[in-house]
Amino acid sequence: MSDWEYGENSCPKCHSEMAWRHCDQCEGGYVEDDDGINGCSLERCDNCNGKGFEEWCRECGWDDVYKCFLSPEYEREYLEKQAASAGSGDTDGSSETGRVSP
Ligand SMILES: [Zn+2]
Ligand SMILES: [Zn+2]
Repeated sequence: MSDWEYGENSCPKCHSEMAWRHCDQCEGGYVEDDDGINGCSLERCDNCNGKGFEEWCRECGWDDVYKCFLSPEYEREYLEKQAASAGSGDTDGSSETGRVSP
């Protein structure tokens, strides 16, 4: 669980550096399923959603693979922070418009 590093992207939510690591449960996003009737088949990895890596924010808990927060706890914290700091009707956008926070 510790072999992550900072990735190239920044968090779409809080603009912190995103943590990044290879998914340790698959090869390039796919896992071999060898108990199928057809012998060996490749299945999309559930852990990384077929991406082959995981990327998440250590600040606010945003998971950029699944496009959601790692847990409802993180989401609640994030929303509370937004409410506390903004107060300007900033809706945590599903439509990102390159808005720059102060
Ligand atoms: Zn974040
Ligand atoms: Zn995976």
